[in-house]
Amino acid sequence: MGIPKHSKYLVIGAGIHGLSTAYHLALELKSRDIGSGKDIVIIDKTDVGAGASGIACGVIRNNYFQPAMRELMAHSVDVWESDPEAFSYYPVGYIQAAPEIMHENVESIAQQQNDIGYESVFVESEKQCSDYMKNIFNDWQAKNITTILHEKRGGYANNLPSMKGLAAKAKDEGVQIISNVQVTGFKSDSAASAIKEVETNQGNIACDYVVVGVGPWVKSIWEMLELPKAIDVKGLDGKVHHDIPMWVYWSLQEGTLGVDPNLQKTNSGDFPPVVHVDTDAPLYSDADGKLITDQLWGIYYKPDFNFGGVQGGAAPFKIKTNPDDVKVDPYGPDSPDYIVDEKFAEMWVSALAHCQKRFEGTLPKYKNEASGGIGAFTPDSFPVFDVFRENCYIIADSNHGYKMIGIGKLVAEEIVCEKQKLLEPFRFSRYAEGKLHPVSNSPYPWS
Ligand SMILES: Cc1cc2nc3c(=O)[nH]c(=O)nc-3n(C[C@H](O)[C@H](O)[C@H](O)COP(=O)(O)OP(=O)(O)OC[C@H]3O[C@@H](n4cnc5c(N)ncnc54)[C@H](O)[C@@H]3O)c2cc1C
Repeated sequence: MGIPKHSKYLVIGAGIHGLSTAYHLALELKSRDIGSGKDIVIIDKTDVGAGASGIACGVIRNNYFQPAMRELMAHSVDVWESDPEAFSYYPVGYIQAAPEIMHENVESIAQQQNDIGYESVFVESEKQCSDYMKNIFNDWQAKNITTILHEKRGGYANNLPSMKGLAAKAKDEGVQIISNVQVTGFKSDSAASAIKEVETNQGNIACDYVVVGVGPWVKSIWEMLELPKAIDVKGLDGKVHHDIPMWVYWSLQEGTLGVDPNLQKTNSGDFPPVVHVDTDAPLYSDADGKLITDQLWGIYYKPDFNFGGVQGGAAPFKIKTNPDDVKVDPYGPDSPDYIVDEKFAEMWVSALAHCQKRFEGTLPKYKNEASGGIGAFTPDSFPVFDVFRENCYIIADSNHGYKMIGIGKLVAEEIVCEKQKLLEPFRFSRYAEGKLHPVSNSPYPWS
């Protein structure tokens, strides 16, 4: 398919954010009688779902310590629930099991969920938590769990099928999606002014408005837009930290245990909520009993027919390589550098066995296939949703945004109508102003 010479709205990237923005923008334009999906073109250097959205674990939860994430995630869950079939969405719920050190954090999440009417069950004390979990899984045996938050909404969705479903909905509204078109630069009157044309490997496309949803590739587009590679960040302590790299990479650790997904059914024979466990109990190898860690650790998992087993992950690690030298391509399982290794497999399966007896002795069933992928993180590991260069909306979710299908809806409303309160805490100016999000005791950079 050839590229158009002009598109009123040009979306770069056919992942969750590009597709969701295009689809919702089409609906907004139509409902206001000011245009339609025909005014929107999505270009992708590869194809729909070729980035992080196409390999994501697919977990959808409200569980964030940061209050600003609460209503934002609830809004996204509304969007997932609006068309579960097209989005390949399984509303099984989500359980966070946590140790005492996280008690206060989780309690405040439960309180805030209660305040906004987001249904969840909060359980305290080691005995009550154990009873609660054994009522769901009779082989539950995780140690040092004193807090449980069971979100009744959320769950997970199948990564690539959901992207295809979203793409089909956008196309039905008249949006054009063109694959194999790579953005290589931007044309404008001056370095700081509005984008007039987007340069691609197939020629230039003139446009009135640009939306960038390029996930792990955001650093390269950011630099093409001549935005700062390093910034000053005013910390929560009021001190200004100079020259902080705008983008760093983390490596996501995920894999699949090649067992029948039915193995992880509940006592009542249903498919269970996604389970996320953080604990400070020592973790021993299920293979040979050696100590793997005596530090706080965390895993998440769910039975998943799309992955063909019990799939999940553990805390990611920060890539130490200078961000300028990190090779994002080839991406995901195709990367020679950033896939999980056998150490991950041993840790994750041992952790599964720590939590539930049914996983003891299953390490040999771990699927020996490349998995995992990298993400581009902001200085505080939280998203930036903002307009740059007057007409360029950047959706940079700091790599925890598969669940954030609703961002595209809010962005579409900002583009055609008015600023959205839910997006305000995620503006770029927060770094200079010191309006950072609070930090939790979780072992993850995104909770
Ligand atoms: C292994 C893994 C597991 C994850 N699990 C979860 C999870 O369970 N829940 C959750 O909420 N989040 C999860 N995430 C994070 C989530 O997947 C990402 O935050 C989200 O998918 C990013 O969506 P996006 O639309 O911004 O980018 P992407 O989905 O990465 O899409 C970007 C697109 O832009 C295209 N592109 C890039 N550069 C250019 C260019 N120059 N020109 C044209 N096109 C370009 C790419 O080809 C790609 O298709 C996970 C991430 C990883 C890596």
